Amino acid sequence: MARTALVTGGTRGIGRAIAIALKDDGHKVAAVYHGNEEAAHAFEREVSIPTFKFDVADFAACESALKRIEQEIGPVDVLVNNAGITRDVQLHKMTPAQWNEVIATDLTSCFNMCRLVINGMRERNFGRIINISSINGQKGQFGQTNYSAAKAGILGFTKALAQESAAKGITVNAVAPGYIATDMVAAVSKDILARIVAQIPVGRLGHAEEIAQVVQFLASDKAAFITGSTITANGGQYVV
Ligand code: NDP
Repeated sequence: MARTALVTGGTRGIGRAIAIALKDDGHKVAAVYHGNEEAAHAFEREVSIPTFKFDVADFAACESALKRIEQEIGPVDVLVNNAGITRDVQLHKMTPAQWNEVIATDLTSCFNMCRLVINGMRERNFGRIINISSINGQKGQFGQTNYSAAKAGILGFTKALAQESAAKGITVNAVAPGYIATDMVAAVSKDILARIVAQIPVGRLGHAEEIAQVVQFLASDKAAFITGSTITANGGQYVV
């Protein structure tokens, strides 16, 4: 059945692949971005998915954008909380700003967006919420206390909201990708990347489309009995 889907960070990388996959499934899709106008405009031109610019870390900005999105596209049935950033540095050198920025963008964003769509989903007795966590939220990662904490926080958030929402036809799940070939991973130095790939049993980075396919399934009617789960897609790098 065709629904309205909103993908944060939907103009690049994993989110871009998710937005396209959900559109291919017949959903009306909107994609959120924050600052990269060039990528957003190219995305909109290439795939004809409308984009909306706002900061998912800012509750008031989310609130006014959600009003506009629901007027223009429709009430949100499928929410994919995918926007995320890294600010890698070891804790003994980390600034409060580097901590707060990652927690706000990667974790508080899930509260902001879910809080704003959950009542509509409850009234309509249907919803699909998919939160993009990370392998590094499951196992921890050197230089990423901020990111690992935010991504682990998403897992607890997902489980709790799933319990609150199950009786209302809303499923809430997380996807924990391993290393996927996107701009975020391109920012890692070649040496470190080679060491990471050596730890992935399938012997390569993942493709954004391989995460999008998991989201496609969780968003579908076929996944109605799956809630509070974390689906791991990491090429065997970390077996949970
Ligand atoms: P990218 O850096 O390629 O893209 C990030 C997207 O999020 C962009 O569309 C960006 O917008 C948007 N975004 C960032 N900050 C905000 C904000 N404050 N408000 C609104 N939108 C924002 O990321 P990836 O595709 O690599 O990652 C997507 C998700 O998957 C993230 O949550 C990441 O943590 C997670 N992940 C990624 C892995 C990987 O290997 N790539 C592994 C595990 C998890 P703009 O273009 O305007 O900057």
